[in-house]
Amino acid sequence: MLLTYQRMSNAPAAIVTGASRGIGRAIALELGSRGYSVIVNYHSNAQAASEVVAALSEIGARAWPVAADVGSADDRQRLVDAAMQQCGRLDVLVNNAGITSPGRKDLLDATEEGWDRVLDTNLKGPFFLSQLAARQMLELRQAGELERGTLINISSISAYAVSTNRADYCIAKAGMEMMTWLYADRLATDQIHVYEICPGVISSDMTAPVREKYDQQIADGLTPIRRWGEPEDVAKAVGTLVTDTFAFSTGQRFHVDGGFHIRRL
Ligand code: NAP
Repeated sequence: MLLTYQRMSNAPAAIVTGASRGIGRAIALELGSRGYSVIVNYHSNAQAASEVVAALSEIGARAWPVAADVGSADDRQRLVDAAMQQCGRLDVLVNNAGITSPGRKDLLDATEEGWDRVLDTNLKGPFFLSQLAARQMLELRQAGELERGTLINISSISAYAVSTNRADYCIAKAGMEMMTWLYADRLATDQIHVYEICPGVISSDMTAPVREKYDQQIADGLTPIRRWGEPEDVAKAVGTLVTDTFAFSTGQRFHVDGGFHIRRL
């Protein structure tokens, strides 16, 4: 029964981690609008994930909410299994789930507990989920069932801009750049392309507690484009990267940051 259903739908399939809210939600909707079936991963907010699935359904996209902690090996396997069971294929993985530094402590007061939580979620999880997804994509390619795969890592301007009260977060995001290069190099001959998107200050639950601080900094010229980024700004970049517009690019970092990365005198 399931197999028959899989064959009826030829839609490409994507896993988007942390898709219940913020940037991940916008990415899921963008991919759904481009004809993807979407595994909508969330950690604990089942209600928000259901709403994303309902919104995808409204635009005609197939989607499933899947609770999984990307820091857990069993949960990561469950995400890839869900894509294969529901869609029979896996074309795109977007490593978006992430948490900020617990308590935003000065690095001289940072704890191992906080380090482990942030590194597990923001770096170890994406690394090993990419490994699982890549193995699955390679298997599909060997069977002649996948032309091209894409892995996209959502890092941050914190990969290279220091915040001394979020050391674990900065280090995890910096690690994502090397992770992107490693997978890009390893998978290039198999037509699996790997990209990093580096968002700037984006309006979401994550930045809600520091809204006023960034309002002021943006007004003072923190970014050449003087506005907050929206989750859709990041989602549109993902939507372009899954096409073959950048077919001769891999391992590339794309800035979606209002020009924040430009050094100025
Ligand atoms: P957000 O609004 O806080 O949403 C976080 C999402 O990640 C939620 O869907 C959450 O699920 C999920 N999540 C958290 N821990 C998880 C885990 N262990 N396993 C699976 N899912 C988990 O965050 P956001 O602002 O959209 O950020 C998304 C990504 O962009 C993050 O990687 C973040 O570092 C990065 N980023 C954000 C900004 C920004 O300014 N907002 C800037 C640069 C980079 P639940 O709903 O179940 O909690």
